[in-house]
Amino acid sequence: MATIAYPQSYYAASANPVPQRPALQEEVQTDVCVIGAGYTGLSSALFLLENGFSVTVLEAAKVGFGASGRNGGQIVNSYSRDIDVIERTVGPRQAQLLGQMAFEGGRIIRERVAKYNIQCDLKDGGVFAALTSKQMGHLESQKRLWERFGHTQLELMDQKRIREVVACDNYVGGMLDMSGGHIHPLNLALGEAAAVESLGGKIYEQSPAVRIERGANPVVHTPNGRVRAKFIIVAGNAYLGGLVPELAAKSMPCGTQVITTEPLSDELARTLLPQDYCVEDCNYLLDYYRLTSDKRLIFGGGVVYGARDPANIEAIIRPKMLKAFPQLKDVKIDFAWTGNFLLTLSRLPQVGRIGDNIYYSQGCSGHGVTYTHLAGKVLAEALRGQAERFDAFAELPHYPFPGGQMFRVPFSAIGAWYYSLRDRLGV
Ligand SMILES: Cc1cc2nc3c(=O)[nH]c(=O)nc-3n(C[C@H](O)[C@H](O)[C@H](O)COP(=O)(O)OP(=O)(O)OC[C@H]3O[C@@H](n4cnc5c(N)ncnc54)[C@H](O)[C@@H]3O)c2cc1C
Repeated sequence: MATIAYPQSYYAASANPVPQRPALQEEVQTDVCVIGAGYTGLSSALFLLENGFSVTVLEAAKVGFGASGRNGGQIVNSYSRDIDVIERTVGPRQAQLLGQMAFEGGRIIRERVAKYNIQCDLKDGGVFAALTSKQMGHLESQKRLWERFGHTQLELMDQKRIREVVACDNYVGGMLDMSGGHIHPLNLALGEAAAVESLGGKIYEQSPAVRIERGANPVVHTPNGRVRAKFIIVAGNAYLGGLVPELAAKSMPCGTQVITTEPLSDELARTLLPQDYCVEDCNYLLDYYRLTSDKRLIFGGGVVYGARDPANIEAIIRPKMLKAFPQLKDVKIDFAWTGNFLLTLSRLPQVGRIGDNIYYSQGCSGHGVTYTHLAGKVLAEALRGQAERFDAFAELPHYPFPGGQMFRVPFSAIGAWYYSLRDRLGV
């Protein structure tokens, strides 16, 4: 079997030392077999190990190979659809529970970083930037909504104030969330994997789960080994393929692209983002950016429905970067890469259980750095028999995409085009 390496990216090039982990070549027995070593799998594994379970993680490629090692690194609170939408969808009791959890993922990351001494360039402060007065109005109601759920580290910014934190003239205002922030995402995943191993967890790389034998004593098969487990956690997200057909049916992998500049001079970096906050705008297809610890600008945006890899990423993303920062016109792009996230029709995560012992969480639809860390905790609670918070997620409806497998990609692209047009028109 060919070895799968990290894709070329700034993160792979600046990763902390990456240990070679073995592929599974035998039969092992464990309490929980976790499929996928992204944040969902690693967070689940850590919470389970901390609670006395034995855990075996199977990773098809390398730790953090998927979205967790390629993302924008932005710690963004809440879900890809906000709590007011949840309230309207499922009612106040469940929304109350989900709302209380909406700010927990960021705290979990910070606790993990501190407890396991993870070197991942953690910085506090994230900005939501409004391009239109309609978007600014939305941020005002978002602040009221989040405060209702106890989240108070928020500041609304007018046009003058946002210009003090980001050197872009396109914004009419914004909102600063001091419990947001940013990290080197691959180094966070690598640190969490090391923490898993420090607690006795086993991680096998180059070990794709190719078949699950379901039943009272499930078995997960890899090409050269198998894991007998009491429970399975499926955490393959957009890279899972067809391993669990029920999960593929109601979600759609999507690609999004990121570029990284050459290192900027200290002065230019300080001018662009003086407080080193990360920024995302409020468009439906949003742009997001931040500085790295060595003063490069990482800039991401756009969505490719159906996750085809675009031929020339720089040609797609650089113009977006120059629209925000024309002052970077002579700056070279050193890295460009793509990664897949999993979209659901509701844009809310899909969480649940298949039979008695196969648990899953997937599909956070864009904003997943915080949610996936929370998901690990909620899944671990469910395995320990405390399922109230798990049930609050599991009861969220899972809808199929209109158009089925054949037409879901063009239908979603048309939908996104419509919402992007509304953003451009400010309606
Ligand atoms: C380019 C990009 C930018 C993003 N930016 C942000 C951001 O700034 N902020 C934010 O909040 N969110 C962002 N996201 C989303 C966020 O990164 C994801 O929601 C999150 O990382 C998903 O974590 P995960 O563990 O569920 O999935 P992944 O990280 O994708 O991990 C799944 C893992 O499972 C493995 N796997 C799959 N199938 C199998 C199998 N059969 N056997 C064994 N292993 C398997 C894969 O190899 C992979 O390593 C971004 C996503 C992308 C792609």
